[in-house]
Amino acid sequence: MAQLVYSSKINKIRSFALILVFAGILLMYVGLLLKKVEWVMVLFFILGVISIVLSTVVYFWIGMLSTKAIPIVCPSCNKPTKMLGRVDACMHCKQPLTLDKELEGKEFDEKYNSRKYRRELKKKQSNK
Ligand SMILES: [Zn+2]
Repeated sequence: MAQLVYSSKINKIRSFALILVFAGILLMYVGLLLKKVEWVMVLFFILGVISIVLSTVVYFWIGMLSTKAIPIVCPSCNKPTKMLGRVDACMHCKQPLTLDKELEGKEFDEKYNSRKYRRELKKKQSNK
């Protein structure tokens, strides 16, 4: 079975924002190359600006998320990291982490963060 590497959610969002910045710069550069056709240049510039504005929004969002994240010390590399949701991965060593004792030792799965899964888990427990 393929070993999936989960990266920390904050890191994922951060790299997404970085890609947006580069995409924006690239779009504007392409616009500059096509300056002979005015509307194409304007179009690429607008797209570039939108992309950069979006990345700013995403960066702002990361800031908001970071304040909600729970700071912990990673048990496997002993570095401080932040967790989002019930399961997340360490920012430094990609070690899957969980805040839930019930999920300890289980295979790391993004589904543990979903509301649907939690609801089903509750249903199962009340049926016992
Ligand atoms: Zn770690």
